[in-house]
Amino acid sequence: MESNKKHKIIIAVDGFSSCGKSTFAKAIAARLGYIFIDTGAMYRAVTLYALEHGAIRSGIVDEDAVVALLKEIDIDFRFNPTRGASDIYVNGDLVEGKIRTIEVSNCVSPVSSIREVREKLVAIQQQMGRKRGVVMDGRDIGTVVFPDAELKIYMTADPHVRALRRYDELKAKGDNVSLEEIEHNVRSRDEADMSRAISPLRKAEDAIVLDNSFMTIPEQMQWFEARYNEVIANL
Ligand code: C5P
Repeated sequence: MESNKKHKIIIAVDGFSSCGKSTFAKAIAARLGYIFIDTGAMYRAVTLYALEHGAIRSGIVDEDAVVALLKEIDIDFRFNPTRGASDIYVNGDLVEGKIRTIEVSNCVSPVSSIREVREKLVAIQQQMGRKRGVVMDGRDIGTVVFPDAELKIYMTADPHVRALRRYDELKAKGDNVSLEEIEHNVRSRDEADMSRAISPLRKAEDAIVLDNSFMTIPEQMQWFEARYNEVIANL
């Protein structure tokens, strides 16, 4: 696939938890020579920081305490050539390996529903995409962060298939979690992300749906290539 050098666009990849958005977005970015930004990692990093600084106790999120911590949280990404993607840092500390635990997953949706958290992270995301040439994955990229993105993809997959994928990923890392616990987390995050008051997960009107329940990565790339070529031809 030829990346169009003259027209760098923004590609928004939104959708449900654990449906392979990051894998897909990362592969697209590598093909096009674009920057890949995983916005879920940013909400997870704030959640981790809140857990480590007493703003979440026994799974209960103290919203005022999270908001008070925000001003001391500095998030940045640094490219890691081994992974072929950027690692996330909080106040200069590498946290990439700590943000995908079930503990963080269980608290991230309430943290991401706090207005001040979203305002801070959305501003950083918009700044990162100002030169275009980015693939950004999340929940509200096509609706709120970049409503003018040239290509919007709304990803979905069967919840059981998604839980199995996340289970395999965590098992491979040596985490001792049950499939039931993960499936419960995946379904409850979907529910929380779709029903929150601010920037709920929803398909942008002009987004194209990709259900990848039974698609391989090469099949998804082929699907993407056709969509990308259509967009570029119509610019
Ligand atoms: O994408 P990932 O599953 O890592 O995202 C973790 C959580 O962060 C989501 O369940 C959602 O609550 C929140 N999120 C969000 N808006 C985004 C990206 C993630 O609210 N743009």
